[in-house]
Amino acid sequence: MNAENACDWIRLVAARVHEQRDVLTELDREIGDGDHGTNLDRGFSAAMTKLDECVDVGDVFLATGRTLISVVGGASGPLYGTLFRTLGRSLRTPDADAAAFGSALQAAVERVEELGGARPGDKTMVDVLLPVAAAFSDASERGFAEAARAAAMAAEKAADATVQMRARKGRASYLGERSVGHKDPGAASTALVFAALADVVS
Ligand code: ADP
Ligand code: MG
Repeated sequence: MNAENACDWIRLVAARVHEQRDVLTELDREIGDGDHGTNLDRGFSAAMTKLDECVDVGDVFLATGRTLISVVGGASGPLYGTLFRTLGRSLRTPDADAAAFGSALQAAVERVEELGGARPGDKTMVDVLLPVAAAFSDASERGFAEAARAAAMAAEKAADATVQMRARKGRASYLGERSVGHKDPGAASTALVFAALADVVS
């Protein structure tokens, strides 16, 4: 992944989040407060406008993370912001190979877990991020495009698996048992983010 790919990834995420804004918001209406789509749309649109120089992969992600933290309210802003900022701090380079990206992703997911305190099975974005990072690392020897494809497939499956879970973190946890039967909005948006990565590098 070069810095141009990194910028294209953020742009594609912004475009898809904008398209899927109502779908994400509807998921959040079912088990949260109905703002996830608008939160992320606001955040990634703002992040896109900050991509003036696509020279260093880390700079792209640091700028994105900073913008998400300052622009997106709610739980997801600091969590997504931390994900991108940690990627940015680990990848101070004009070009990152699959192994480097894989270990940066592992570190970033750990930071998100620490910040939010969510464990696997709590029905959050962490339930998608963990298998994404594992799939990316496992497939990294097959090159960036293959690793990103494996990560996107793992993400889709993991997001679907949140339907059966009972929420133990975030607003959805207030619903207890009634959160079962709905897909977690943050899990759905995380799957969107990694589908976009696979498409950008393929
Ligand atoms: P809010 O819940 O503040 O309205 P959003 O609607 O933007 O924020 O985001 C909700 C998503 O954030 C949830 O679907 C879940 O995936 C994620 N989330 C919430 N709390 C946590 C947490 N403590 N750890 C990890 N992810 C969380
Ligand atoms: Mg919400």
